[in-house]
Amino acid sequence: MARYTGPVCKLCRREGQKLFLKGTKCFTEKCPVERRAYAPGQHGPASARRRKASEYAHQLREKQKVKRIYGVSERPFRNMFVKASRQPGVTGENLLVGLETRLDNIIYRMGFASSRKEARQLVRHRHIQVNGRLVDVPSYQVEPGNEVRVAPKSKDILPVQASLESKTRPSQVNWLAVDDGSRTGRMIERPSRADIPLAVQEQLIVELYSK
Ligand code: SF4
Repeated sequence: MARYTGPVCKLCRREGQKLFLKGTKCFTEKCPVERRAYAPGQHGPASARRRKASEYAHQLREKQKVKRIYGVSERPFRNMFVKASRQPGVTGENLLVGLETRLDNIIYRMGFASSRKEARQLVRHRHIQVNGRLVDVPSYQVEPGNEVRVAPKSKDILPVQASLESKTRPSQVNWLAVDDGSRTGRMIERPSRADIPLAVQEQLIVELYSK
């Protein structure tokens, strides 16, 4: 499935909440979710008045929301679900942990990029190293003990600097240690569900895919 390249604010409006897909701009620009609190499109205002959503619709919306937050398209998301379901423990939690430990998300959480989209670009453009080696795959799974850093030649590029100095930088999580000066971070341990600051009901995604 091709990556969505349209206006990202529409995705937030479709989910009916702010997903902060534009990074710092979400705090400085007027947010369309606040100005037009209904789904985009011709029938958007009418859909807000429609009857109660079905159980299936709730499950579908939750899956779409999580996919949009992490910027993952359907096929890789489904593959991650299958992998999570084969791991010991709770499938929904395994899925979220898998998404959180993607390299692009780690770069975002460390504060080297202002959004996951920007983090993905840094990785794709070969600005990121894991354990001293260039990695250009955003879905790369970071493991506990791995050192993630901005490549020395890219330490002072504008997006990294702007993100580190931003007042809206995401608050630090306790499973990552970050040194801003050297643009280096380390994953201390795998996060548990309680360590992931995301208000989603991952159980609904498990129910949807288990039908
Ligand atoms: Fe979403 Fe940010 Fe656009 Fe608001 S400004 S709709 S939070 S992407």
